[in-house]
Amino acid sequence: MRTFKKEKTKGNKMKKDIHPDFKTCAVTCACGNAFETRSNVESMRIDICNACHPFFTGEEKIVDAAGRIEKFKARYAMK
Ligand SMILES: [Zn+2]
Repeated sequence: MRTFKKEKTKGNKMKKDIHPDFKTCAVTCACGNAFETRSNVESMRIDICNACHPFFTGEEKIVDAAGRIEKFKARYAMK
């Protein structure tokens, strides 16, 4: 069985100066939602997140469809 000296195993340290600084990152979305994650940057702005992405809200599809229906109705009302 292999044994290690205590100095080698304690601390569980990474090599210094080769790793980017891993810190708490404040993420702010264009929709106003904000949350924290871990990253090598302190903050980031995003355009879409889990709170406003249409896949999760199901809203944008309805908005787009309504716009097209309005155009369709307008076109046929002119005839
Ligand atoms: Zn969002």
